[in-house]
Amino acid sequence: MKEICDKKRCSGCGACRQVCVQGAITMKEDRLGCLHPVIDSGRCTGCGLCSSICPVNNPPVFQEPQECFAAWVNNFEERKDCASGGIATSLTKLFLENGGSAYGTRYSEGFTPVIDRITTSTINLYKGSKYVQSVTGDAFVRIKAELQEGRQVLFIGTPCQVAGLYGFLHKPYDNLTTCDLVCHGVCPPAYLHGELAIQRKKHLLLDISDVKFRSQEPQYNYALSLWDEKGRPVWCRNESRQPYFRGFLANTTLRESCHHCQYATLRRIADISLGDDTAFDKSAIDPSAGNVNVSLVLVNTGKGRALIDKLAEDTGTTFVQRDTVTETAGVPSLTAPAPRSFRSRVFRFLYPLTSYRIASRAAICPQIWYKKLHHAGHILRKKLHI
Ligand SMILES: Cc1cc2nc3c(=O)[nH]c(=O)nc-3n(C[C@H](O)[C@H](O)[C@H](O)COP(=O)(O)OP(=O)(O)OC[C@H]3O[C@@H](n4cnc5c(N)ncnc54)[C@H](O)[C@@H]3O)c2cc1C
Ligand code: SF4
Ligand code: SF4
Ligand code: SF4
Repeated sequence: MKEICDKKRCSGCGACRQVCVQGAITMKEDRLGCLHPVIDSGRCTGCGLCSSICPVNNPPVFQEPQECFAAWVNNFEERKDCASGGIATSLTKLFLENGGSAYGTRYSEGFTPVIDRITTSTINLYKGSKYVQSVTGDAFVRIKAELQEGRQVLFIGTPCQVAGLYGFLHKPYDNLTTCDLVCHGVCPPAYLHGELAIQRKKHLLLDISDVKFRSQEPQYNYALSLWDEKGRPVWCRNESRQPYFRGFLANTTLRESCHHCQYATLRRIADISLGDDTAFDKSAIDPSAGNVNVSLVLVNTGKGRALIDKLAEDTGTTFVQRDTVTETAGVPSLTAPAPRSFRSRVFRFLYPLTSYRIASRAAICPQIWYKKLHHAGHILRKKLHI
């Protein structure tokens, strides 16, 4: 079968599928559950457009960040469900309030993250990081149509999705602003579906309306938590004890392209980049603001600068100037792609032969048990003063 680009570097951005006017490309799961383009040779005319726009086949045009800020939304209730300081949501709000359009990632039914157009009534669905690959669907086609109508459009996604959008559009648009996330990697949606099926059965959870990975409430931050229709938590496990989350953070279950990611660098692809500012000294933050997850904001272009200036005029958001080089030195996702672990080889061997349950428990749980034993030993030694 003809490949559009080197398969191990294909991010599954879907730009090739959306650009093919013959409808010859479908995104299909491979043996590891990752979405890849598959060409129907009966429909393909051999025009070569798909491979010519693919971001893997074209070196990205990177920007050096011009400025760096630590930032957060002041109102706790507004940023409660946000991943970091809620800056992605603030940028989205700013676009919507000024008559523009914004695109981001929400869950579809069955908890597959999808990129969709955000409205004022759906904005809350887009808060928080879904540590799962989101499916681009027809978003690039819709964005292009809006850009051609002259509308201001904001696109927020992983760097490879931003690169996919640029490739699809094939030319720069003054009315497009992009925002990429500092990105550790993604797991295929099939793994999250597998994990949810296990927990549903084990804990008899019939009504799950939301799945969260991050929160301003410490007990739900870096924890996999499941919520019912009334917004009540029904189940929660900290990342260190949760196989899906551990698999993501310990590089066991990431998509292959994430281990070869060309965007894991301080030089950025979008107008603005957002991540977590874990190095920020929070002691200076007013305690009445509640717990604050601070955003790292990199301003990479003049367009990004203008947008951040506009947001900073709003008194609802705090911006603190940071030194780009010091602040970002050593941030793993801004330095190099996630390294492959021994456990990922175990997972990749077992997943196609067995199931998510067997592969994840065999590859990830020994690490969790080892950590628990280590922790218990530490407590025992402390108690016995040895
Ligand atoms: C898969 C993934 C890996 C990440 N890895 C790192 C990392 O290693 N280091 C780091 O500093 N930061 C990382 N981030 C970024 C961080 O988790 C926050 O998303 C970022 O700081 C924005 O926070 P916020 O509070 O401004 O966003 P919020 O206001 O909470 O809004 C969340 C935004 O993220 C977008 N989003 C959510 N899930 C996805 C998804 N699966 N794909 C694309 N877009 C999505 C939504 O559309 C929305 O715009 C990662 C994010 C994701 C999604
Ligand atoms: S355009 Fe995207 S999905 Fe298509 S081959 Fe290239 S990287 Fe893969
Ligand atoms: S070569 Fe042209 S027709 Fe064939 S899959 Fe690619 S874009 Fe579609
Ligand atoms: S690590 Fe790189 S390839 Fe993987 S989702 Fe993030 S930007 Fe895309």
